[in-house]
Amino acid sequence: MYQESDLLPISALQHIIFCERQCALIHIERQWAENRLTAEGQILHEKTDKEGGESRGNLRIARALYIHNFELGLYGKADVVEFHKGSSGVVLPNVEGLWKPFPVEYKRGKPKADCCDEVQLCAQALCLEEMLCTSIQEGALFYGTPRRRTAVQFDGTLRSATKAAAEKLHTLITNGITPPAVYVKKCDNCSLIELCMPKMKKIKKADAYINTFIAGLNEDTL
Ligand code: SF4
Repeated sequence: MYQESDLLPISALQHIIFCERQCALIHIERQWAENRLTAEGQILHEKTDKEGGESRGNLRIARALYIHNFELGLYGKADVVEFHKGSSGVVLPNVEGLWKPFPVEYKRGKPKADCCDEVQLCAQALCLEEMLCTSIQEGALFYGTPRRRTAVQFDGTLRSATKAAAEKLHTLITNGITPPAVYVKKCDNCSLIELCMPKMKKIKKADAYINTFIAGLNEDTL
């Protein structure tokens, strides 16, 4: 079990899945850069970032709920947690019956090729399970394009992937070493590409680079 001071943000799971170096630059070196993709994500989150609740018949909705899991060493804020009234679930204050928690996470763009969104949502479910002493089998991701929900099952495979990502994140942060850059296609969509400079690794030595550059200048330029 982790202590409160060891907890790491759930949002870092998407970074470690996307690229270990990006994760280290953000969470160890504290560097961050905004690009169109992160800005769009921020706008999409503006509505859900407002704390509050709502009640509609057999549905209760909690927004911007602070959550944590001491077994995985994670904390964060759930965009939306719905509570559906049913035959099983948890007891809520001042309302009768049992209510099943159902986390919903809002994402910009469309479903991604990797599992980072599913892992982030599963981490929220694991937080709620630990906090509410219950089990949660399903949640949903709401994408900006198309504007609709995608159901996510918290099966054994996704739970294992989430635990593995959390362990990898803690190892990276504890070691405190930023991995070297390796250029791959996804770097073109990375908010840190200007800071990371993944293509620079092809230049073996700075003096060789400067010599090559100077040799390319003609007399007129000088
Ligand atoms: S530019 Fe590429 S290597 Fe660098 S942090 Fe981003 S994804 Fe990782």
